Amino acid sequence: MNLTAPLTIALSKGRIFEQTLPLLAHAGIAPLDDPETSRKLILETSNPRVKFVIIRASDVPTYVQYGAADLGVAGKDVLLEHGGEGLYEPLDLGIARCRLMVAGQPDARPPTSRRLRIATKYVRSAERYFASKGQQVEIIKLYGSMELAPLVGLSDLIVDLVESGNTLKANGLVPLEHIADISSHLIVNRASWKMKHEAVNTLLACLREAVGERDEGLNPDSVA
Ligand code: ATP
Ligand code: MG
Repeated sequence: MNLTAPLTIALSKGRIFEQTLPLLAHAGIAPLDDPETSRKLILETSNPRVKFVIIRASDVPTYVQYGAADLGVAGKDVLLEHGGEGLYEPLDLGIARCRLMVAGQPDARPPTSRRLRIATKYVRSAERYFASKGQQVEIIKLYGSMELAPLVGLSDLIVDLVESGNTLKANGLVPLEHIADISSHLIVNRASWKMKHEAVNTLLACLREAVGERDEGLNPDSVA
């Protein structure tokens, strides 16, 4: 792929990196180092005009917003918390799929003498969800292991990402309410979108094609 400008792409390690690589491979872009074993935070790729920066999932929108990266791949959960300021979201990559849900103990009763307490990493999404239901709640911000909170009486409920539900189940919790379907999106900062439009568009078209071909292959009707 011939690019008219250099592009920096912000990615996080783990599932997003692993699931974005096959799509980038469609554009002939492969990292020269493995971020799981290398300690490098800037990775060169098979395309001399493209480099990756490897950062925390929740930092991806910030790097892209401030132009430290032209593009990035971020979960919708992270984008909802960030707010999407200064960003375009031109393509749903359909990877790292899960659901944002309310969960709790199956037999729990709502408190009578205080507000419902919700423990979560997703403060904004939780606030918005309960406000939309007209429910006054107290949100307790956590950074991980949300499943523990109801078990030790820190909260009545949690708001967390659920894929198979096995983590909830292992902790005696059940999914209760669906808030949003989550997948990872390609994000582009507004300045790069304008100033590097041709290069960004070349990559975007390639990724869109890769997503389309993958989804065609997944469609049971397309199997002879
Ligand atoms: P960190 O580990 O740096 O705190 P994180 O836990 O959010 O960040 P990951 O677990 O790699 O990082 O998740 C990255 C993204 O993948 C999330 O923002 C979300 O969009 C998606 N994701 C998280 N958990 C799951 C899951 N169980 N199944 C599918 N996708 C998930
Ligand atoms: Mg994690």
